[in-house]
Amino acid sequence: MKPLHIAIAGYGTAGQAASLLLARDGHRVEVFERVATPGPVGAGFLLQPTGMGVLLELGLLDAALQLGAPVRRLFGDLPGGRRIMDMRYAELQPQLFGLGMQRTALFELLHAARTSATQLHFAANVETVDAEQGRLRTADGREHGPFDLVLAADGSGSRLREALGPQRLNRPYPWGALWCLLPVRDWPHVDELRQRYRGAQRMIGLLPVGGRVTDASPRLSFFWSLPTSDFERWRARGMPAWREELNALWPQACGVFEQLPEDPAGLARATYRDAVPKRWHHGRLCAVGDAAHAMSPQLGQGVNMALLDALALSDALRAEPNVQTALRRYAAERRRHVGIYQLWSRWLTPLFQSHHIALARLRDLLFLPLSRLPLSRGQSLSVLSGTQQGLFGRRPLDPRLLQRLTKPLR
Ligand SMILES: Cc1cc2nc3c(=O)[nH]c(=O)nc-3n(C[C@H](O)[C@H](O)[C@H](O)COP(=O)(O)OP(=O)(O)OC[C@H]3O[C@@H](n4cnc5c(N)ncnc54)[C@H](O)[C@@H]3O)c2cc1C
Repeated sequence: MKPLHIAIAGYGTAGQAASLLLARDGHRVEVFERVATPGPVGAGFLLQPTGMGVLLELGLLDAALQLGAPVRRLFGDLPGGRRIMDMRYAELQPQLFGLGMQRTALFELLHAARTSATQLHFAANVETVDAEQGRLRTADGREHGPFDLVLAADGSGSRLREALGPQRLNRPYPWGALWCLLPVRDWPHVDELRQRYRGAQRMIGLLPVGGRVTDASPRLSFFWSLPTSDFERWRARGMPAWREELNALWPQACGVFEQLPEDPAGLARATYRDAVPKRWHHGRLCAVGDAAHAMSPQLGQGVNMALLDALALSDALRAEPNVQTALRRYAAERRRHVGIYQLWSRWLTPLFQSHHIALARLRDLLFLPLSRLPLSRGQSLSVLSGTQQGLFGRRPLDPRLLQRLTKPLR
Protein backbone atom coordinates (compact mmCIF):
# COMPACT_ATOMS: atom_id res chain seq x y z
CA MET A 1 0.00 0.00 0.00
CA LYS A 2 1.25 3.49 -0.76
CA PRO A 3 2.05 5.67 2.27
CA LEU A 4 -1.14 7.07 3.81
CA HIS A 5 -1.94 10.41 5.41
CA ILE A 6 -3.25 9.44 8.85
CA ALA A 7 -4.84 11.54 11.63
CA ILE A 8 -4.86 10.26 15.21
CA ALA A 9 -7.23 11.87 17.72
CA GLY A 10 -5.78 11.34 21.21
CA TYR A 11 -2.21 10.97 22.48
CA GLY A 12 -2.72 8.36 25.23
CA THR A 13 -1.09 4.93 25.02
CA ALA A 14 -3.08 3.86 21.95
CA GLY A 15 -2.42 7.11 20.06
CA GLN A 16 1.24 7.18 21.02
CA ALA A 17 1.92 3.57 20.03
CA ALA A 18 -0.06 3.87 16.79
CA SER A 19 1.77 7.07 15.82
CA LEU A 20 5.16 5.37 16.34
CA LEU A 21 4.32 2.19 14.44
CA LEU A 22 2.58 3.94 11.54
CA ALA A 23 5.30 6.58 11.13
CA ARG A 24 7.87 3.77 11.18
CA ASP A 25 6.05 2.19 8.24
CA GLY A 26 6.40 5.42 6.24
CA HIS A 27 2.88 6.84 6.71
CA ARG A 28 2.44 10.58 7.24
CA VAL A 29 0.99 10.94 10.72
CA GLU A 30 -0.68 13.92 12.40
CA VAL A 31 -1.76 13.66 16.04
CA PHE A 32 -4.50 15.86 17.55
CA GLU A 33 -4.55 15.93 21.37
CA ARG A 34 -7.03 18.02 23.30
CA VAL A 35 -4.79 19.02 26.24
CA ALA A 36 -2.14 21.70 25.81
CA THR A 37 0.57 19.83 27.73
CA PRO A 38 -0.01 16.12 27.24
CA GLY A 39 0.95 13.71 29.94
CA PRO A 40 -0.46 10.70 31.66
CA VAL A 41 -3.38 10.85 34.08
CA GLY A 42 -3.29 8.65 37.17
CA ALA A 43 -0.52 6.77 38.90
CA GLY A 44 0.64 3.36 37.73
CA PHE A 45 -0.49 0.24 35.90
CA LEU A 46 0.46 -3.37 35.39
CA LEU A 47 1.78 -4.20 31.95
CA GLN A 48 1.11 -7.79 30.95
CA PRO A 49 3.45 -10.00 28.91
CA THR A 50 1.33 -9.37 25.78
CA GLY A 51 1.92 -5.62 26.13
CA MET A 52 5.63 -6.20 26.74
CA GLY A 53 5.70 -7.99 23.38
CA VAL A 54 4.60 -4.75 21.68
CA LEU A 55 7.30 -2.76 23.50
CA LEU A 56 9.81 -5.33 22.23
CA GLU A 57 8.55 -4.70 18.71
CA LEU A 58 8.98 -0.95 19.28
CA GLY A 59 12.53 -1.46 20.58
CA LEU A 60 11.51 -0.08 23.99
CA LEU A 61 11.32 -3.21 26.13
CA ASP A 62 14.81 -2.95 27.62
CA ALA A 63 14.17 0.65 28.66
CA ALA A 64 10.83 -0.34 30.20
CA LEU A 65 12.45 -3.21 32.11
CA GLN A 66 15.04 -0.74 33.45
CA LEU A 67 12.36 1.52 34.84
CA GLY A 68 9.49 -0.77 35.85
CA ALA A 69 9.10 -3.26 38.70
CA PRO A 70 8.65 -6.97 37.90
CA VAL A 71 5.43 -8.16 39.56
CA ARG A 72 5.41 -11.92 40.02
CA ARG A 73 2.39 -12.49 42.22
CA LEU A 74 -1.13 -11.11 42.60
CA PHE A 75 -2.32 -11.50 46.15
CA GLY A 76 -5.51 -10.34 47.90
CA ASP A 77 -6.76 -11.00 51.42
CA LEU A 78 -9.26 -9.93 54.07
CA PRO A 79 -8.42 -8.00 57.27
CA GLY A 80 -8.46 -11.32 59.22
CA GLY A 81 -5.74 -12.68 56.92
CA ARG A 82 -7.90 -15.01 54.82
CA ARG A 83 -6.52 -15.32 51.29
CA ILE A 84 -8.95 -14.54 48.48
CA MET A 85 -6.63 -14.35 45.48
CA ASP A 86 -3.18 -15.79 44.99
CA MET A 87 -1.80 -16.11 41.47
CA ARG A 88 1.76 -16.35 40.24
CA TYR A 89 2.81 -15.74 36.65
CA ALA A 90 5.48 -18.43 36.97
CA GLU A 91 2.75 -21.08 37.18
CA LEU A 92 1.98 -20.28 33.54
CA GLN A 93 5.60 -20.11 32.39
CA PRO A 94 8.59 -19.81 34.70
CA GLN A 95 10.08 -16.67 33.13
CA LEU A 96 6.82 -14.66 33.01
CA PHE A 97 5.90 -11.67 35.16
CA GLY A 98 3.87 -8.48 34.86
CA LEU A 99 5.70 -5.16 34.77
CA GLY A 100 4.45 -2.49 37.17
CA MET A 101 5.10 0.92 35.59
CA GLN A 102 4.45 4.54 36.37
CA ARG A 103 2.17 6.08 33.76
CA THR A 104 4.68 8.88 33.29
CA ALA A 105 7.45 6.35 32.61
CA LEU A 106 5.59 4.74 29.71
CA PHE A 107 4.38 8.09 28.39
CA GLU A 108 7.93 9.46 28.35
CA LEU A 109 9.37 6.34 26.69
CA LEU A 110 6.83 6.46 23.87
CA HIS A 111 7.09 10.24 23.52
CA ALA A 112 10.89 10.19 23.33
CA ALA A 113 10.77 7.52 20.59
CA ARG A 114 8.69 9.66 18.18
CA THR A 115 10.29 10.84 14.96
CA SER A 116 10.22 14.37 13.60
CA ALA A 117 8.05 13.09 10.74
CA THR A 118 5.07 12.92 13.13
CA GLN A 119 3.23 16.22 13.48
CA LEU A 120 1.83 16.80 16.97
CA HIS A 121 -1.01 19.30 17.46
CA PHE A 122 -1.64 19.97 21.15
CA ALA A 123 -4.63 21.89 22.57
CA ALA A 124 -6.47 20.43 19.55
CA ASN A 125 -9.79 19.11 20.80
CA VAL A 126 -11.40 17.10 18.00
CA GLU A 127 -15.10 17.91 18.07
CA THR A 128 -16.40 16.16 14.99
CA VAL A 129 -15.23 13.74 12.37
CA ASP A 130 -16.62 13.07 8.91
CA ALA A 131 -15.98 9.35 8.60
CA GLU A 132 -16.79 9.23 4.87
CA GLN A 133 -14.51 12.11 3.86
CA GLY A 134 -11.84 11.61 6.55
CA ARG A 135 -12.10 15.21 7.81
CA LEU A 136 -11.83 16.53 11.37
CA ARG A 137 -13.01 19.71 13.01
CA THR A 138 -11.28 20.94 16.15
CA ALA A 139 -12.82 23.14 18.88
CA ASP A 140 -11.13 26.26 17.47
CA GLY A 141 -13.31 25.82 14.38
CA ARG A 142 -10.49 24.68 12.08
CA GLU A 143 -11.04 21.92 9.52
CA HIS A 144 -8.32 19.32 8.94
CA GLY A 145 -7.97 16.77 6.17
CA PRO A 146 -9.03 14.96 4.15
CA PHE A 147 -7.05 12.07 5.62
CA ASP A 148 -6.88 8.55 4.19
CA LEU A 149 -7.47 7.22 7.68
CA VAL A 150 -8.59 8.76 10.99
CA LEU A 151 -7.95 6.90 14.24
CA ALA A 152 -10.23 7.51 17.21
CA ALA A 153 -7.76 7.06 20.09
CA ASP A 154 -9.63 9.41 22.41
CA GLY A 155 -10.08 7.03 25.33
CA SER A 156 -12.99 5.53 27.22
CA GLY A 157 -15.17 8.65 27.05
CA SER A 158 -14.56 8.85 23.27
CA ARG A 159 -16.57 11.45 21.45
CA LEU A 160 -15.53 10.09 18.04
CA ARG A 161 -16.99 6.67 18.83
CA GLU A 162 -20.44 8.01 17.93
CA ALA A 163 -19.36 8.41 14.31
CA LEU A 164 -18.88 4.62 14.12
CA GLY A 165 -22.65 4.17 14.32
CA PRO A 166 -24.85 2.46 16.91
CA GLN A 167 -23.32 1.18 20.14
CA ARG A 168 -24.07 -2.22 21.61
CA LEU A 169 -23.24 -0.83 25.06
CA ASN A 170 -21.91 2.46 26.40
CA ARG A 171 -22.40 3.05 30.11
CA PRO A 172 -20.32 4.32 33.01
CA TYR A 173 -19.52 2.00 35.90
CA PRO A 174 -21.04 3.24 39.17
CA TRP A 175 -17.72 2.61 40.95
CA GLY A 176 -14.36 4.24 40.40
CA ALA A 177 -11.10 4.71 42.29
CA LEU A 178 -8.75 7.22 43.87
CA TRP A 179 -5.08 6.73 43.14
CA CYS A 180 -1.65 8.21 43.64
CA LEU A 181 2.03 7.27 43.80
CA LEU A 182 3.77 6.71 47.14
CA PRO A 183 7.41 5.98 48.09
CA VAL A 184 8.14 2.27 48.69
CA ARG A 185 10.05 2.86 51.96
CA ASP A 186 9.96 -0.39 54.00
CA TRP A 187 7.03 -2.06 52.16
CA PRO A 188 8.23 -5.68 51.89
CA HIS A 189 6.18 -6.93 48.91
CA VAL A 190 8.19 -5.29 46.17
CA ASP A 191 7.34 -7.86 43.51
CA GLU A 192 3.65 -8.39 44.28
CA LEU A 193 0.39 -6.62 43.60
CA ARG A 194 -1.26 -6.69 47.03
CA GLN A 195 -4.93 -5.99 47.64
CA ARG A 196 -6.99 -5.88 50.82
CA TYR A 197 -10.77 -6.27 50.73
CA ARG A 198 -13.70 -5.94 53.09
CA GLY A 199 -16.83 -7.16 51.38
CA ALA A 200 -17.05 -5.73 47.89
CA GLN A 201 -17.35 -2.22 49.29
CA ARG A 202 -13.77 -1.72 50.34
CA MET A 203 -10.69 -2.46 48.30
CA ILE A 204 -7.19 -1.05 48.71
CA GLY A 205 -4.39 -1.90 46.31
CA LEU A 206 -0.62 -1.43 46.37
CA LEU A 207 1.26 -2.10 43.14
CA PRO A 208 5.04 -1.65 42.81
CA VAL A 209 5.66 0.48 39.71
CA GLY A 210 9.40 1.26 39.77
CA GLY A 211 10.83 4.66 38.78
CA ARG A 212 10.95 6.95 35.76
CA VAL A 213 13.71 8.50 33.71
CA THR A 214 13.83 11.76 35.67
CA ASP A 215 13.37 10.18 39.12
CA ALA A 216 14.56 6.61 39.57
CA SER A 217 13.25 6.21 43.15
CA PRO A 218 10.80 3.32 43.16
CA ARG A 219 7.13 3.97 43.90
CA LEU A 220 3.96 2.12 44.77
CA SER A 221 0.73 2.85 42.98
CA PHE A 222 -1.95 3.12 45.65
CA PHE A 223 -5.65 2.79 44.86
CA TRP A 224 -8.83 2.97 46.88
CA SER A 225 -12.15 1.87 45.43
CA LEU A 226 -15.37 3.84 45.94
CA PRO A 227 -18.63 4.67 44.17
CA THR A 228 -18.20 7.68 41.92
CA SER A 229 -21.19 9.28 43.66
CA ASP A 230 -19.10 9.25 46.90
CA PHE A 231 -16.09 11.21 45.57
CA GLU A 232 -17.33 14.45 47.15
CA ARG A 233 -18.41 12.80 50.40
CA TRP A 234 -14.94 11.26 50.66
CA ARG A 235 -13.30 14.66 50.24
CA ALA A 236 -15.60 16.33 52.78
CA ARG A 237 -14.93 13.60 55.37
CA GLY A 238 -11.30 14.70 55.59
CA MET A 239 -8.00 12.86 55.36
CA PRO A 240 -7.46 11.99 59.09
CA ALA A 241 -10.73 9.99 59.34
CA TRP A 242 -9.98 8.24 56.04
CA ARG A 243 -6.44 7.37 57.11
CA GLU A 244 -7.81 5.85 60.32
CA GLU A 245 -10.11 3.65 58.25
CA LEU A 246 -7.19 2.58 56.03
CA ASN A 247 -5.02 1.73 59.04
CA ALA A 248 -7.80 -0.32 60.62
CA LEU A 249 -8.38 -2.23 57.38
CA TRP A 250 -4.72 -2.87 56.66
CA PRO A 251 -2.49 -2.24 59.71
CA GLN A 252 0.51 -3.86 57.97
CA ALA A 253 0.50 -1.03 55.42
CA CYS A 254 0.16 1.92 57.81
CA GLY A 255 3.79 2.96 57.13
CA VAL A 256 2.80 3.40 53.48
CA PHE A 257 -0.43 5.23 54.31
CA GLU A 258 1.52 7.75 56.43
CA GLN A 259 2.87 9.10 53.15
CA LEU A 260 -0.51 9.80 51.61
CA PRO A 261 -0.92 13.47 50.65
CA GLU A 262 -2.48 15.81 53.23
CA ASP A 263 -4.58 17.41 50.52
CA PRO A 264 -7.34 15.30 48.88
CA ALA A 265 -6.43 16.99 45.58
CA GLY A 266 -3.21 14.93 45.66
CA LEU A 267 -5.24 11.85 44.67
CA ALA A 268 -6.46 11.39 41.09
CA ARG A 269 -10.05 10.29 40.55
CA ALA A 270 -10.67 7.50 38.05
CA THR A 271 -13.97 6.57 36.48
CA TYR A 272 -14.52 3.73 34.01
CA ARG A 273 -16.93 2.82 31.24
CA ASP A 274 -18.13 -0.31 29.54
CA ALA A 275 -18.31 0.49 25.84
CA VAL A 276 -18.94 -1.91 22.98
CA PRO A 277 -19.43 -0.24 19.59
CA LYS A 278 -21.14 -2.46 17.03
CA ARG A 279 -18.48 -1.52 14.47
CA TRP A 280 -14.84 -0.70 15.13
CA HIS A 281 -14.48 1.10 11.80
CA HIS A 282 -16.69 2.99 9.43
CA GLY A 283 -15.61 4.76 6.25
CA ARG A 284 -12.14 6.15 6.96
CA LEU A 285 -12.60 6.16 10.74
CA CYS A 286 -11.25 3.39 12.96
CA ALA A 287 -11.17 3.07 16.78
CA VAL A 288 -8.16 1.92 18.83
CA GLY A 289 -7.63 1.53 22.60
CA ASP A 290 -10.39 2.39 25.05
CA ALA A 291 -12.31 4.17 22.30
CA ALA A 292 -12.89 0.72 20.77
CA HIS A 293 -13.32 -1.30 23.96
CA ALA A 294 -13.52 0.62 27.25
CA MET A 295 -13.79 -1.76 30.20
CA SER A 296 -13.31 -1.80 33.95
CA PRO A 297 -9.62 -2.06 34.95
CA GLN A 298 -10.36 -5.11 37.13
CA LEU A 299 -8.21 -7.36 34.92
CA GLY A 300 -5.49 -4.75 34.37
CA GLN A 301 -5.54 -5.07 30.57
CA GLY A 302 -6.36 -1.66 29.06
CA VAL A 303 -2.80 -0.51 28.35
CA ASN A 304 -1.93 -3.90 26.85
CA MET A 305 -4.98 -3.84 24.67
CA ALA A 306 -4.13 -0.33 23.48
CA LEU A 307 -0.60 -1.44 22.56
CA LEU A 308 -1.84 -4.61 20.85
CA ASP A 309 -4.44 -2.64 18.86
CA ALA A 310 -1.75 -0.33 17.53
CA LEU A 311 0.45 -3.25 16.48
CA ALA A 312 -2.43 -5.20 14.89
CA LEU A 313 -3.47 -2.13 12.89
CA SER A 314 0.00 -1.43 11.56
CA ASP A 315 0.42 -5.15 10.69
CA ALA A 316 -2.93 -5.17 8.86
CA LEU A 317 -2.00 -2.06 6.85
CA ARG A 318 1.22 -3.76 5.84
CA ALA A 319 -0.44 -7.02 4.87
CA GLU A 320 -3.50 -5.82 2.94
CA PRO A 321 -3.75 -4.13 -0.46
CA ASN A 322 -6.16 -1.36 0.63
CA VAL A 323 -7.34 0.49 3.73
CA GLN A 324 -10.80 -1.12 3.91
CA THR A 325 -9.56 -4.70 3.87
CA ALA A 326 -6.87 -3.75 6.39
CA LEU A 327 -9.47 -2.28 8.76
CA ARG A 328 -11.62 -5.40 8.46
CA ARG A 329 -8.65 -7.59 9.22
CA TYR A 330 -7.62 -5.42 12.19
CA ALA A 331 -11.11 -5.37 13.72
CA ALA A 332 -11.66 -9.11 13.28
CA GLU A 333 -8.35 -9.96 14.91
CA ARG A 334 -8.69 -7.59 17.85
CA ARG A 335 -12.35 -8.35 18.58
CA ARG A 336 -11.48 -12.06 18.90
CA HIS A 337 -9.04 -11.16 21.65
CA VAL A 338 -10.80 -8.31 23.44
CA GLY A 339 -14.34 -9.78 23.68
CA ILE A 340 -13.57 -12.31 26.38
CA TYR A 341 -11.85 -9.64 28.51
CA GLN A 342 -14.84 -7.34 28.34
CA LEU A 343 -17.06 -10.22 29.36
CA TRP A 344 -14.85 -11.27 32.27
CA SER A 345 -14.32 -7.75 33.56
CA ARG A 346 -18.09 -7.08 33.40
CA TRP A 347 -18.73 -10.18 35.53
CA LEU A 348 -15.82 -9.80 37.92
CA THR A 349 -16.13 -6.10 38.74
CA PRO A 350 -19.21 -6.40 41.02
CA LEU A 351 -17.36 -9.07 43.04
CA PHE A 352 -14.80 -6.41 43.99
CA GLN A 353 -16.63 -3.12 43.58
CA SER A 354 -20.29 -3.12 44.60
CA HIS A 355 -22.68 -3.07 47.55
CA HIS A 356 -23.59 -6.76 47.08
CA ILE A 357 -22.91 -8.47 50.39
CA ALA A 358 -23.92 -11.93 49.17
CA LEU A 359 -21.67 -11.69 46.09
CA ALA A 360 -18.71 -10.73 48.27
CA ARG A 361 -19.36 -13.71 50.56
CA LEU A 362 -19.50 -16.02 47.58
CA ARG A 363 -16.23 -14.54 46.31
CA ASP A 364 -14.58 -15.05 49.72
CA LEU A 365 -15.66 -18.67 49.73
CA LEU A 366 -15.05 -19.67 46.14
CA PHE A 367 -12.59 -17.39 44.38
CA LEU A 368 -9.39 -18.98 45.61
CA PRO A 369 -10.50 -22.66 45.49
CA LEU A 370 -11.93 -22.19 41.99
CA SER A 371 -8.79 -20.51 40.72
CA ARG A 372 -6.80 -23.53 41.97
CA LEU A 373 -8.74 -26.21 40.08
CA PRO A 374 -6.53 -27.63 37.32
CA LEU A 375 -8.66 -26.36 34.42
CA SER A 376 -9.63 -22.96 35.76
CA ARG A 377 -6.13 -22.33 37.07
CA GLY A 378 -4.63 -22.37 33.57
CA GLN A 379 -7.55 -20.31 32.37
CA SER A 380 -7.21 -17.59 35.04
CA LEU A 381 -3.45 -17.35 34.51
CA SER A 382 -3.90 -17.01 30.80
CA VAL A 383 -6.55 -14.29 31.31
CA LEU A 384 -4.17 -12.53 33.68
CA SER A 385 -1.23 -12.58 31.28
CA GLY A 386 -3.37 -11.21 28.44
CA THR A 387 -2.98 -14.37 26.35
CA GLN A 388 -6.57 -15.65 26.54
CA GLN A 389 -8.29 -15.66 23.13
CA GLY A 390 -11.97 -16.59 23.04
CA LEU A 391 -13.22 -19.09 25.61
CA PHE A 392 -10.49 -21.69 25.27
CA GLY A 393 -7.92 -20.31 22.83
CA ARG A 394 -4.48 -18.89 23.59
CA ARG A 395 -2.42 -16.19 21.91
CA PRO A 396 1.14 -17.39 21.66
CA LEU A 397 3.75 -15.06 23.16
CA ASP A 398 6.57 -13.92 20.89
CA PRO A 399 9.50 -16.37 21.38
CA ARG A 400 11.88 -13.37 21.33
CA LEU A 401 10.02 -11.96 24.34
CA LEU A 402 10.25 -15.25 26.23
CA GLN A 403 13.95 -15.40 25.48
CA ARG A 404 14.49 -11.82 26.66
CA LEU A 405 12.65 -12.47 29.92
CA THR A 406 14.97 -15.36 30.79
CA LYS A 407 17.98 -12.98 30.73
CA PRO A 408 18.89 -10.62 33.59
CA LEU A 409 16.40 -7.74 33.51
CA ARG A 410 18.86 -4.88 34.06
C1 LIG B 1 -7.94 3.12 37.94
C2 LIG B 1 -7.44 2.51 36.67
C3 LIG B 1 -6.46 1.53 36.74
C4 LIG B 1 -5.99 0.92 35.57
N1 LIG B 1 -5.05 -0.05 35.67
C5 LIG B 1 -4.59 -0.65 34.55
C6 LIG B 1 -3.59 -1.67 34.63
O1 LIG B 1 -3.08 -2.04 35.71
N2 LIG B 1 -3.14 -2.23 33.47
C7 LIG B 1 -3.66 -1.86 32.25
O2 LIG B 1 -3.21 -2.41 31.23
N3 LIG B 1 -4.61 -0.91 32.15
C8 LIG B 1 -5.10 -0.30 33.26
N4 LIG B 1 -6.06 0.66 33.16
C9 LIG B 1 -6.66 0.96 31.85
C10 LIG B 1 -5.79 1.90 31.03
O3 LIG B 1 -5.47 3.05 31.77
C11 LIG B 1 -6.54 2.32 29.77
O4 LIG B 1 -7.15 1.21 29.18
C12 LIG B 1 -5.55 2.96 28.77
O5 LIG B 1 -4.99 4.11 29.32
C13 LIG B 1 -6.28 3.29 27.46
O6 LIG B 1 -5.43 4.03 26.62
P1 LIG B 1 -6.04 4.93 25.47
O7 LIG B 1 -4.88 5.52 24.76
O8 LIG B 1 -7.04 4.18 24.70
O9 LIG B 1 -6.86 6.07 26.22
P2 LIG B 1 -6.34 7.24 27.17
O10 LIG B 1 -5.10 6.83 27.87
O11 LIG B 1 -7.51 7.66 27.99
O12 LIG B 1 -5.94 8.42 26.16
C14 LIG B 1 -6.90 9.15 25.44
C15 LIG B 1 -6.27 10.47 25.02
O13 LIG B 1 -7.18 11.13 24.13
C16 LIG B 1 -7.26 12.50 24.50
N5 LIG B 1 -8.57 12.97 24.04
C17 LIG B 1 -9.80 12.68 24.53
N6 LIG B 1 -10.75 13.27 23.83
C18 LIG B 1 -10.14 13.94 22.83
C19 LIG B 1 -10.62 14.74 21.76
N7 LIG B 1 -11.92 14.96 21.59
N8 LIG B 1 -9.70 15.28 20.91
C20 LIG B 1 -8.37 15.06 21.08
N9 LIG B 1 -7.88 14.33 22.09
C21 LIG B 1 -8.75 13.75 22.95
C22 LIG B 1 -7.10 12.50 26.01
O14 LIG B 1 -6.69 13.78 26.49
C23 LIG B 1 -6.02 11.43 26.18
O15 LIG B 1 -4.71 11.97 26.07
C24 LIG B 1 -6.53 1.31 34.31
C25 LIG B 1 -7.49 2.32 34.24
C26 LIG B 1 -7.95 2.92 35.40
C27 LIG B 1 -8.98 4.01 35.29
